[in-house]
Parts: sequence; structure tokens; C-alpha cells
Amino acid sequence: MHAPVRSAVPQREEVHMLDNKAAAQRSRRLILVIEDNEINREMLVALLEEQGYDVIEAENGLEGLEQLERHYDELSLVLLDVFMPVMNGLEFLSRKREDERFDSVPVIVITANNTEADELKALKLGANDFVVKPYNFEVMMNRIYNMISLRESASIVNLLTMDTNTALYSKGFFDRAVGDELAANPDGAYDMVCSDIDNFRSLNDRYGQERCDQLLGMLADNLMDAIPDLVSGGRIGGDQFAFLIKHQEKPFDDALREAVESIGHTNLSVKFGIVENFGHELEPSTVCGRALLALERVKGPLGVVISRYDEKLHESQLLERQILENMEEALAQRQFTVYYQPKHDMRNDVTGGAEALVRWIHPELGFINPGAFIEIFEHNGFITQLDMYVYEEVCRHIKRREEAGLPAIPISVNASRLDFDIPDLPEQLAAMADRYDVDHSLLHIELTETAYADDPKTVSDALHRLRESGFRIELDDFGSGFSSLASLNTLPLDVMKLDMSLVRQAEKLDDFRIVESTIKLAQILGLQVVVEGVETLEVAERLRDMNCDYIQGYYYSRPLKSEEFDAYLTR
Ligand code: C2E
Ligand code: CA
Ligand code: CA
Repeated sequence: MHAPVRSAVPQREEVHMLDNKAAAQRSRRLILVIEDNEINREMLVALLEEQGYDVIEAENGLEGLEQLERHYDELSLVLLDVFMPVMNGLEFLSRKREDERFDSVPVIVITANNTEADELKALKLGANDFVVKPYNFEVMMNRIYNMISLRESASIVNLLTMDTNTALYSKGFFDRAVGDELAANPDGAYDMVCSDIDNFRSLNDRYGQERCDQLLGMLADNLMDAIPDLVSGGRIGGDQFAFLIKHQEKPFDDALREAVESIGHTNLSVKFGIVENFGHELEPSTVCGRALLALERVKGPLGVVISRYDEKLHESQLLERQILENMEEALAQRQFTVYYQPKHDMRNDVTGGAEALVRWIHPELGFINPGAFIEIFEHNGFITQLDMYVYEEVCRHIKRREEAGLPAIPISVNASRLDFDIPDLPEQLAAMADRYDVDHSLLHIELTETAYADDPKTVSDALHRLRESGFRIELDDFGSGFSSLASLNTLPLDVMKLDMSLVRQAEKLDDFRIVESTIKLAQILGLQVVVEGVETLEVAERLRDMNCDYIQGYYYSRPLKSEEFDAYLTR
């Protein structure tokens, strides 16, 4: 049976009742009568049928078990005689109890002698009610009716509170159970453990829903057995579970690993996120959110991965919140500043251009790198507004240089995939450039490789229009892992930028063959080549030997403030 720590977790018995949802909704209920005396049995059957029940019969406990095995998911009730040959009623009860699937079927025991000892024995073995022979038919029918409707209404309540595949609470009920537990134990220390199955969708496609439901049930079962000091468990998402446990001083990673691995499914990868000793003031869903954040942080490795919500994650979450809360104001107050990183023209040994890279200089948080906010803005769509701001800043910059009589330098701006959701992006950019009287050929658009993957037609159309109106197109991050050679043929491009990772790898292996052949490939296609991330003279020299057109990297310069960039150019 269940350990007491499991008391706040729904018990098996209740859960299997849910399997009987169909039975509960059926208008005709099925009753199994187990009775060796033929006359008694037939009489009972006739009576039940007269009342509108469907009946199946068994002559002794053994036959009863066989019928139970066959019909347990449709049975509403068992009527059980005690004294029978082959297998008696008490033996039947104890065998029935061994199999959890049968828990949902209630049993009314019919005894000949009304002794308390017998009653107690049968109750201990899981009988639900008693009728003493000779019985009054009306009393008997009421007992049967009450037992069935009690069970069915309980199962309807369970439907709302419990998940049907696992022995876990539904999300809403779990949150409430956690809230109740914390309120009842204000000084208690608790951990939250959340799990998430990798690629559950593709498992579903591959193995079908039924098998995946079984898998979920097995995983939930194993975890409830393995997790120490379990207080309550819930299914908080399709493939996500949450477990509230008493705070653990010692790690229990091995137990989690074992619980997953013992299922023996090679394609099952499960990630766990743990929040230790969390504050009681936090909403349960917030705590679960943190646990999920911790587990999402780990990308890649298959198998079992366990990650804890820590100070660093907390800080990055706080930063994310601050970023979201402050972004609009920051844009209005011009806290975003554009830096320029020179692109060195290798043939003429001059600065041939620059890339515009945005930084956020926050009055309190200080200097924030785009790595901290671009992804967030790409997620919430704010990136488009920021990109438009950057385009405009760049137009201003070019215009200012021109007015100061300085030589014109083309500037590349980074376009996000989302920018292409603006149907008239090319026309808007053209209008912006014209407003500042900037020659379109001085504006280059850097498009990252993945940007056109989602909607190649829209992006390609926009690029064509941009190019027709005089802008130059650069393919960014080429070779970063999503390269599609076909896109080199089909997109209207002027420049290919080799991803930094290609250079890093070449340096590490002291083998530049891939870099060299990529440069050749670009040149065959009539594209100019920029290599990014060059940090040393040695690499710069090697690239010069390979006829690389432009180099961008710390070796020449870091990204510079507008005035610093001016100074750099006059040097
Ligand atoms: P990216 O477009 O690949 O930009 C190149 C990044 O590499 C820049 O980082 C640059 O500072 C850095 N870098 C340049 N040379 C070197 C070098 O020699 N060594 C090393 N280790 N790094 C070098 P940054 O400025 O932090 O920008 C990161 C990314 O943020 C950019 O990657 C770009 O995808 C995005 N981003 C920056 N500004 C904007 C913007 O205005 N709009 C959009 N949509 N994205 C932007
Ligand atoms: Ca770029
Ligand atoms: Ca790049």
C-alpha cells in the first residue's frame, strides 16, 4: 500500500476510477455476481435485471477473478458471497487487492452469519459494504444503488482534480494543494522538482498517443516512488510534472536518473529543474516557472539532465524583467547607442565599411550588450522598433559625416527576421534614407542565415526590392550551422559574411581548408567575402593570402562609438 508521505498525492484507487468515466456515463451499469448457490444466484440476477442492470455471473472466486480481469473497466460493482468452493470470498478480495487495476470496482459482500469478526476481515481486505443473508430485496437494491452513485460522483470530482493518465493532480488543483501545504506549515522548508520530456510531440507521432499516455503514467509512478519526502505531485503541462517535496539537504539526482532509466525506453529524455528552499511568498506557479526555466537552460544532451535554479539564473531573470519593463522608455529616451565596427578592405588596406551594433546604456544598469536583449526583443517583437531606430541612427551618422566633409563609408545594419513582417519594409527604408539624403548604396542589410528559413518567399521578395532600390545585401553568419547552399543561388546577395565559428575552428585545428574553400565558393558566385572574428595578425595574413576581401574583428578594432569611429578613420 501507499506510504504515508504520499497522502497528499491522489491515491491509486481514486485515479483508476477515472478509467471508468465511460462506465459512469453509461446508462446501464454492469454488475458481477459471484455466488456458488445456483438458486440464490439466479434469483439475484433476475432481480438486478428487472432493475435495469446488466449482470454477469461467476460460480466461485476463481471464476470471479477471471470475469474481473475481462470486465474490470466496465464493471460498476461486484456482489460477493463469502462461502464458496474452489476460492472463497475472502480469498477473492485479497487477490483483487493485489491488482491496482481492480481498485475502481467496489465490492458488496453477502454473508450468511452476521459476526463482527467476519465483517472486519472482509473490510480489511477491501470490501466496501455488507449485506446479511437473508436479505431484504429493497435494502439490497438501495445499497447497490448508493454504492454505485457514490463511486460515480467521486469519480466526477476526481476528473476535475486529477489527471487521467497519471496519479497526479491537475495543474489548478496542484497549485491549491501546494498553497494549502505551505499555509499549514509556515516554517516548513520545501523544494520544487519539475520535469519535462524532450520532444514529447515527436514521441507522440512515433509511438502513438496510447503508448505515450502509458509512458507518462509510468514516469509519474516511478518518480513518485523515487522522489524523497514527496508531499504532492501535479501534472502542470502535457509532458510536465511538478513535485513538491520537503527540502532535501542531500542531492537526489541518482534517484531521478534511476526513475527514468528504469523505464527502459531508449528514446526517453527527461529534464529536471529544481528550486531549493523557495520562499513561501512565491506563487506555486512562479516556483514551477523557475524550475522550468532552470531545466530549459540546458539545451542539447539527451538522457536525464538535472539543473537547479541558482543565483545566476535568478539574476538573469531579474535582468530580463528589467529589460522588458524598461525597453519602451529606453527607446524614447535614446538610451540605445549604435557602435561601429570597422571592416578592413584587404586589397586596398583601408577601412572599407563598418557594421552597426547596438548597445544599451541604461542609467542604472549601465552598459548592456546586445547578447542580453536581442533575443528577448526577437521574442516579443520589440526588435523591429529597435531595428528601425538603428537604421535611422545610421542614416543620421552617414549624413553627419557627409556634412562634415568626411569620406563616405558604407554601413551595414543587422536585420531581424521579424523586420520582414513589415510588408513595405524596403519602401520604408528607402523613404528613411531619402529623408536623410543618404545614398542607398551606403546602406547594407545584414541578414542572418536563419532569417529566411521560415518564410523564404517573403524574405526573398523583400530582398529583391531592397536591392532594386540600391541597398546591398549581406548574408550574415554563413557556416554557423544552418547554411543552405541553395539559398546562395536563389537569394539576391552581394556579400557573404563567414561566421566567427568557422575561423575559431580553423585556428584550433590549424586547418583553414574549409575557410579557404568557402571564400572560393563565394567568389565563384560573384559575392564579396567578409570574415568576422579575426583577432590576430597571423589569421589576418592567412586570410589575405586566400584573397579574402574584408576582415572584421578585434585585430583591427572593437566596435567603436560614433566619435571614436571618426577618429579611427582619420588615423
Ligand atoms: P553579429 O551580427 O554576428 O555581430 C558580430 C558580433 O561579434 C558583435 O557582437 C561583435 O562585437 C562581435 N565581434 C566582432 N569582432 C569580434 C572578434 O574579433 N572576436 C570576438 N570574440 N567577437 C567579435 P555584439 O555587438 O555583441 O552583437 C551580438 C549580436 O547581436 C550580433 O551578432 C547581432 O546578431 C545582434 N545585433 C547587434 N546589434 C543589432 C541590431 O541593431 N539589430 C539586430 N537585429 N541585431 C543586432
Ligand atoms: Ca551582423
Ligand atoms: Ca555575424
